[in-house]
Amino acid sequence: MVRNIVKYGDVVLETSAEPITEFDTPELHGLIADMWETMYAAKGVGLAAPQIGLSKRLSVIDTSVGEREEDKIVIINPEIVLKEGSQTGEEGCLSIPGFREPVTRAHKVRVRAQNEKGETVEYDGEELLARALQHEIDHLNGILFVSHLSTLKRDMIRRKIRKLQKAGEWK
Ligand SMILES: [Zn+2]
Repeated sequence: MVRNIVKYGDVVLETSAEPITEFDTPELHGLIADMWETMYAAKGVGLAAPQIGLSKRLSVIDTSVGEREEDKIVIINPEIVLKEGSQTGEEGCLSIPGFREPVTRAHKVRVRAQNEKGETVEYDGEELLARALQHEIDHLNGILFVSHLSTLKRDMIRRKIRKLQKAGEWK
């Protein structure tokens, strides 16, 4: 089922999410299936549970956007255990549609997480995958990509969004 994606301004997006403690349950499998469906419907490369209004430490990532099954990654309770180098590239977010800005992040990361069965998994990512991993893990800590921008740029985006909210064009 495609879920509604919550937009910037909703407090859930800026709240640190709760760890997942029960694995391999029908609820968790159903939630992950919904997250894939929602992410693909929105043509995103990643989606974090807070973006569908659930304060849980779960994200899905597919940098191939549905092209390669082996690129599908589910990370639960993830942590970044290694960061190397830096990269700057345009970034957007399904919860902040219409805004894209350059963001500087680590070029390479190693992430340790749990899968849907609760098993420990590790992923090494570079470039786009590293960017997606960092962006989606940020979501679980209540951090949005606009937090990485200058105050000036962030305030500009906030003002534009406030205008959209007033016009009823931001929901
Ligand atoms: Zn995002």
